[in-house]
Amino acid sequence: MKFTVLTLFPEMIEQGFHTSITGRAAESGLLSLRCVNIRDYALDRYGHVDDYPYGGGAGMVMQAPPIYRAYQDAVGERTIRPRLIYLTPQGKVFTQAMAVELAKEEELFILCGHYEGVDERVLDEIATDRISIGDYVLTGGELPALVLMDAVSRMVPGVLSNEESGETESFMNGLLEYPQYTRPEVFLDRPVPEILRSGHHAKIDRWRRNESLRRTYEVRPELLENIELDKEDRLFLHSLKAEAKKE
Ligand code: SAM
Repeated sequence: MKFTVLTLFPEMIEQGFHTSITGRAAESGLLSLRCVNIRDYALDRYGHVDDYPYGGGAGMVMQAPPIYRAYQDAVGERTIRPRLIYLTPQGKVFTQAMAVELAKEEELFILCGHYEGVDERVLDEIATDRISIGDYVLTGGELPALVLMDAVSRMVPGVLSNEESGETESFMNGLLEYPQYTRPEVFLDRPVPEILRSGHHAKIDRWRRNESLRRTYEVRPELLENIELDKEDRLFLHSLKAEAKKE
């Protein structure tokens, strides 16, 4: 996967990306990152890339020409228009399913906004997707870009080792993940659940499935509407609901 990020703060992206799992995958050639500094494409020698909004109002807006020039330079000789994600709180809210889908691309372009946002005309011209990382407003698109690249990269084959497999993680099967434990066996008088030390794999799997169902039911019950439940799942959920009624 090749990422090209158009940003005013390339150092922020570089530093975040070249750390931990994405950094390791970049070293091994599974991922690559190219940052394009939009300020290098400013129209004046002072590096201005923003201006007052037409119609008045607070803040500044990123101008279309520097972004478009940066984009054209980055696209270069390509004949097929690349997929370009504009990160914006007004976009579709990012999910694990979207990460899985985006990981199938060979390359992704990402545009990070700043100030009050970006002149709509350049977005209409170059953006193929508009994605939000959640219902809150951040200062710029750099943290959202890192969030998106991290989640997408984990779904690129080979980026996670077998031990780190993403298959069992939250959302992959539509549920939140079960609780995890490691040594020591007892921490502040709290022992690790007995079943996890039993070595009985079928029972451990059932316990984990139930704990996933419990977490999801307690924190994100709406997720349960979109998954297939077997008989045992339904019985367990029924018992949770009955317990909740008693309380
Ligand atoms: N005025 C914009 C609005 O109300 O929708 C918010 C602009 S925000 C201060 C500046 C930039 O941060 C945006 O252009 C976008 O790139 C990025 N940003 C902020 N919050 C975001 C979020 N939740 N998801 C994705 N990008 C976000």
